[in-house]
Amino acid sequence: EAKSAGKGQVVFFHDRMDTEYQQRQQLKADLRKAIDEGELSLVYQPLINPRENRIVGCEALARWTHPTLGPISPADFIPIAEETGMISDLTRYVLNLATHDCMTWPKNIMVAVNISARDFRSRQVETMVMDALSKSGLPPSRLEIEVTETTVIDEQEAAEATLHTLQAMGIGIALDDFGTGYSSLSYLRSMPFTKLKIDRSFVADIETDSHALRLLANVAQLGQDLALKITVEGVETEGQLALITEKTNVDLVQGFLYGRPLSNEALTILLSAHNPAPPLAQPLRIAAK
Ligand code: C2E
Ligand code: MG
Ligand code: MG
Ligand code: MG
Repeated sequence: EAKSAGKGQVVFFHDRMDTEYQQRQQLKADLRKAIDEGELSLVYQPLINPRENRIVGCEALARWTHPTLGPISPADFIPIAEETGMISDLTRYVLNLATHDCMTWPKNIMVAVNISARDFRSRQVETMVMDALSKSGLPPSRLEIEVTETTVIDEQEAAEATLHTLQAMGIGIALDDFGTGYSSLSYLRSMPFTKLKIDRSFVADIETDSHALRLLANVAQLGQDLALKITVEGVETEGQLALITEKTNVDLVQGFLYGRPLSNEALTILLSAHNPAPPLAQPLRIAAK
């Protein structure tokens, strides 16, 4: 009896795995098509100087609306692109579009683009970045690339040389999601970072936990002691913003408090209202999409 139940389960799992496998294969094929045919889009999330209440730049975030499944999170499709090697085509597309869009914004607004660890393995990052800058005409100083600790851990050798070259051109290099990985802090000196983006998990509890606030302030100070600019990600409430501006010395904040990422059209309207981006008289709040 137990044997037949076990057998039945095995059959059940195999069926389900087949379906999941087929769905994943379909998704891979659909993503290939989406990248090739320019069906991916970008949204932009403002990076804000909280003391001047001023937008200094935007992070480009990839979006994919699947024809039948609807919006698919980058947390789902970026790993597929990485596994299949499609990521370099995706990154090229994002770099080209983001630098192109940034050229239409006021001159004091920069753009940040996420680069995957896998991109460094193919050693195309330098070429892709140079091509995007020359096609768009964007000055290197208005581009920042964001890498995660996975890049530092998995692709250190390949990444280090490329990042040094890019940094020497004046491109900003941000270490994204700082504090969530397992890399050694010594990389903060050996890798040519210009900025740390402190992960939003460091912000979540600062209103209720004084240790969390002190940890955030000290992590920010650690980065600033190494001459790095600091961005705090995931600022969602007025209370968090108040504590961050009062108790830490961070340079920039980013988060849903200031709004969800915006289409280029919506962002352009927002920026033109503040062109040439003087300090805002009113607290900046972007309507949620
Ligand atoms: P990330 O680079 O750390 O981007 C920030 C993510 O946090 C975005 O999610 C953004 O929408 C979200 N976020 C911003 N403010 C808040 C907040 O206040 N609260 C919360 N809970 N979340 C906030 P998104 O757009 O879903 O992207 C997720 C991740 O996917 C990104 O994390 C990045 O690692 C990756 N990604 C997105 N676009 C690209 C891309 O073009 N290339 C690569 N390689 N990765 C990308
Ligand atoms: Mg990022
Ligand atoms: Mg991040
Ligand atoms: Mg993140």
